Amino acid sequence: MAEIRFHNTMSGVTEPFVPLVPGEVRAYTCGPTVYDFAHVGNFRTFVFQDVLRRYLKSRGYRVIQVMNVTDVDDRIIQKAAAAGVSIRDYTDKYIQAYLDDRRALNLEPPEHIARATEHIDDMVELIQRLTEKGYTYTSEGSTYFRISKFPSYGKLSKIDVAGMQTGARVDMDRYDKDNARDFALWKAPKPGEHFWETPIGPGRPGWHIECSAMAMKYLGETLDIHSGGVDLTFPHHENEIAQSEGATGKQFARYWLHAEHLLVDHEKMSKSMGNFATLRELFSHGHKPSSVRFLLASVPYRSQLNFSPESLQGAASSVERLRNFILRLHSVKFPEGSSPAMSERVAKAREDFDRGLADDLNTAQALAAIFDLVRDVNIAMDRGEFRQGDAAPVLALMDSFDAIFAVLHDDDAEKLHALGLIEDSSGPSDAEIDALLAERQAARKRRDFTASDRIRDQLAERGIMLEDSPDGAIRWKRK
Ligand code: AMP
Ligand code: ZN
Repeated sequence: MAEIRFHNTMSGVTEPFVPLVPGEVRAYTCGPTVYDFAHVGNFRTFVFQDVLRRYLKSRGYRVIQVMNVTDVDDRIIQKAAAAGVSIRDYTDKYIQAYLDDRRALNLEPPEHIARATEHIDDMVELIQRLTEKGYTYTSEGSTYFRISKFPSYGKLSKIDVAGMQTGARVDMDRYDKDNARDFALWKAPKPGEHFWETPIGPGRPGWHIECSAMAMKYLGETLDIHSGGVDLTFPHHENEIAQSEGATGKQFARYWLHAEHLLVDHEKMSKSMGNFATLRELFSHGHKPSSVRFLLASVPYRSQLNFSPESLQGAASSVERLRNFILRLHSVKFPEGSSPAMSERVAKAREDFDRGLADDLNTAQALAAIFDLVRDVNIAMDRGEFRQGDAAPVLALMDSFDAIFAVLHDDDAEKLHALGLIEDSSGPSDAEIDALLAERQAARKRRDFTASDRIRDQLAERGIMLEDSPDGAIRWKRK
C-alpha cells in the first residue's frame, strides 16, 4: 500500500506520516464553539477530520481522537447574558444540536469529547506550571502569556514577531496576525459575568488554554496530529504551541493539518458575514444528509470549496449513481464464472483509490478511481461481459470506499426524522424493500403477475418506485 503522506503546516511540506507509537494515532481535533448552530462551513472541517480518522483506521491504526467543545468564550458569555440564562443552559442546547448534526453526517464519535467548563482545574494547573517557569504575568486580575519568553512564537503561522512591542496585550479570544500580542490565559471577571473561584484568582479561561490542557490530559505531552480549519492557525494554534511547549519543553504536535475554507461566492462562510447555512436549513430545503457529506468530502481538504445549491444537487446525483450501482450488483443474476480482465480492472481501481487517499487525503483522486470503475463495470454489465464471480471484489472495494466516504446506506429519511425535520420515516426499511422485491421476483418467476403487480402497488403506496430494466435488474427509489 502507498506510504501515507500529509501536508504539515509546521514544515510547510507534504511528509511521510509516521506516528510516535507504532500502530497508534493520537489526534486532537479543535471542535465547535457552541454559541449557535454550527454551519456547513464548520462541517467542512469536521467532515475532513472524520475522513482523516476513518482513513487512518482503514490503514489499521488504532485512533484515539479527542475533540473539545468550547462552552465558554467571549461570544458565549455575551449571548448567554443577553438571553438571561446560565452559560451551561445556553450551551447545552447547541451541544445537543451539534451532536445530532454529527450523527446526520455519519461523523464517527471521537473517543473523548471534552467540554471546556469541565476542565477548569486542568487549565488552572497548566497556567500555574507556566507561571512557575516564568512565562506569565498578571495585570488587573488577568494572567497573560508573555510571548517574548517563547522565542519560537510564530513558527506555525510564520508571523514575524521581531518588531513587536514587548508587553502589548490582547484581551479578546479571537484576533488577527496584525494584533499578535501577549494573550490572556485567565481573565478577571467583569461585573455580572460567570466566573470560577480558583487558586489563580476568580475568573474564567481564555479560549486557547483549553485545547492545550485537554489535549495533553488525554493524549500525553506530544500528540501525533492536531487539526482544525485554516483560520485557527493564528492565533489559536500558535498560542496552543506556546502554552504547551512552554510548560513541557517538548514538541506539542508532530503534524498540523489545516482544512481550507468553505466559501460562498468566493467569501469564507461565516456567521459574521451572514452568508451561512446550517445543516437543518439545508435539510429543510430538501437536501439530503448524504449529499452534504459527499460534497464536503469530495473536494480535497486543502482546496477551497465553493458552496452552492447546484453543487449539492451534483453530489446528490453522484450518491444516487453509486447506490444504484450497488443495487444492480446485488440484484442482477450475472452469468456464472469470472473474468480475469475484470479482476485486473478492480485491482487497478483499488490501487488508484488507495494512492489518492495516501497522498494527503486526495479524496478527488480516490473518487475518480471509484467513478471510473463504476462506469467500466456498468459498460461490462450492459454488454453481458460481467460475471457473477466479478461482483464480490467490486463490492469489497465499494465497502472500502464507504468505510471512508460513508454515503452508500440509504438512511437519509431516518436521519431527517431523527432531527425532527420530517414527521414520517415510517416508509419501509431497505431490508423490508429487499424482502418484498425478492418475493416479487419469485412471483414473476412462477409467472404469477397478479402477485407481482400487487407487490409493486404496495410498494408504490408506501412511496417506493420500482424500475425494471432490460437486464432483469430492479432498481427502486424513494419518492
Ligand atoms: P468555531 O466553532 O468557530 O470554533 O469553528 C469550528 C471549526 O470550523 C474550526 O475548525 C474552524 O476553523 C472551522 N471553520 C469555520 N468556518 C469555516 C469555513 N467557512 N470553512 C471551513 N471551516 C470553517
Ligand atoms: Zn483548539
